[in-house]
Amino acid sequence: MAHDGIVLEVDAVSKSFGALAALSKVSFAVRQGQVFSVIGPNGAGKSTLFNVISGLHVPTVGRVRFRGREIAGLAPEAINRLGIAKTFQITNIFPEISVFENVRVAAQSRARESGRLASLWRLPDVEPGTAELLRAFGLAAKRDELAESLSHGEQRYLEICLALATEPTLLLLDEPTAGMTPGETKEATALIRRIAAARGLTVLLIEHDMSVVMGISDRIAVLHFGEKIAEGAPEQIRNDPQVIEAYLGPPEA
Ligand code: ADP
Ligand code: MG
Repeated sequence: MAHDGIVLEVDAVSKSFGALAALSKVSFAVRQGQVFSVIGPNGAGKSTLFNVISGLHVPTVGRVRFRGREIAGLAPEAINRLGIAKTFQITNIFPEISVFENVRVAAQSRARESGRLASLWRLPDVEPGTAELLRAFGLAAKRDELAESLSHGEQRYLEICLALATEPTLLLLDEPTAGMTPGETKEATALIRRIAAARGLTVLLIEHDMSVVMGISDRIAVLHFGEKIAEGAPEQIRNDPQVIEAYLGPPEA
C-alpha cells in the first residue's frame, strides 16, 4: 500500500476562530483497522478536529491526508464520497420515517453517489445489508416503527447504522454514547469494537468520557486547550503524568 497502512494523517493542523486557537499544530496518524480515540475535556477542540477532517472547516494551517490523498479544503460531500462517514454529537436521523427506511435511504445515498445507480432501483441489493445492520444493533424488531419513537439511546444506535450503511473506510464518531444509559454505553462500545473488527473498519472516536475509550481503543490522543498533550496505548495514557494532571486525576487504586 502506497500509504503504509495509514488511513488518516492529521499533519500539524491548526484552526483558529478569531483570536481563539481551537487547535494548535495537532498531528497524529490512524492505521487501517484501528480504533483511535481523541479525548479531552469540553472545549479541548475535539469537535473542531472532527469538523476539519470531515470538511466542515478548512484548517487555518496544516494538512489532512486520507489514504495518502490531501483532503483539507474539499467539500464535506466529496470527503464523504471518498469513504469517510460521520455521526454528529447531536443525533441526526429522519424522525418521521421508519427505522428500516432510515438505513435504506443512507445505503442508497452511497449507491447513488458512487455511481452504482442500478442498485438504487434494485432494493433487494440494499435490504440484506440493512437488515443485518439493524440486527447487530438490536433494532430489527423495531424496523417498521418511526425513528422518532425510539429511545434516545436507540436513536444514537440508528445513527451509527446510518453511517455504516454507506460502507465507509473510516468512521468518525463524535461522542456516540452521549446521553446513553450506562448499560447502552457499554453495549454500544462493545458493538463498535466488534463491527470495526468484523469489517476491517477504521474508527476515529471523539469522546470526553474516559471510561468509554479505555476498553475500546487501540490508541488514544489527548487534547487539552487545542494541543495534543499525549498519545499512546490506553495503559500509557492512563498513567501519563501530564494527562493525569490536566484531565484525569489520579488513577483508581
Ligand atoms: P470540544 O468538542 O472538545 O468540546 P470544540 O471543538 O467544540 O471542543 O471547541 C473548541 C473551542 O473552539 C471552544 O472554545 C469553542 O467555543 C470554540 N469553537 C468551536 N467552534 C467554533 C466556531 N464555529 N466559532 C467560534 N468558536 C468555536
Ligand atoms: Mg465536542
